[in-house]
Amino acid sequence: MVLAAMEVADEGMAQGELPIGAVVVSGDEIVARAYTRDSEGRLKHADLLAMIEADGKGARDLRLAVNLEPCLMCLGAAMSLGVKEIFYGLDSPGDGAAATARSWAPGPGMGWYRAPEVHGGIRAGEVREQFRRYCGQAPDTALRRWANTLVTGT
Ligand SMILES: [Zn+2]
Repeated sequence: MVLAAMEVADEGMAQGELPIGAVVVSGDEIVARAYTRDSEGRLKHADLLAMIEADGKGARDLRLAVNLEPCLMCLGAAMSLGVKEIFYGLDSPGDGAAATARSWAPGPGMGWYRAPEVHGGIRAGEVREQFRRYCGQAPDTALRRWANTLVTGT
């Protein structure tokens, strides 16, 4: 699944976007896919876009794959949609929500509001290489400087 998300990320990068891609799977079928878009000065997250698309199709029994660790906003969307599992590639230390998901405990009377099981570090080296390629070709913007922290770890 992360490999499919990486392919979507490559499509985004070919359009000049950040190399972040997501797919949503229902059963064995990919029901939605999206890459992160930086349009009109607002960043639209790949994982959120893919989940909105999957929700619009009424898909159930969802799993999400992203090449980069999801943020808190996208984790919250996954929880609200009842996504069962998240698979991701590279850690995103600045905004990643995997630790929050792992430590989440449902509140009283909210046993249905659970965090997905999160599996990270899948193909992380290959995803880091995607970001390295992006940083080698993208103009010097705040987004590229952030992407470079994923490559260098600093
Ligand atoms: Zn996000």
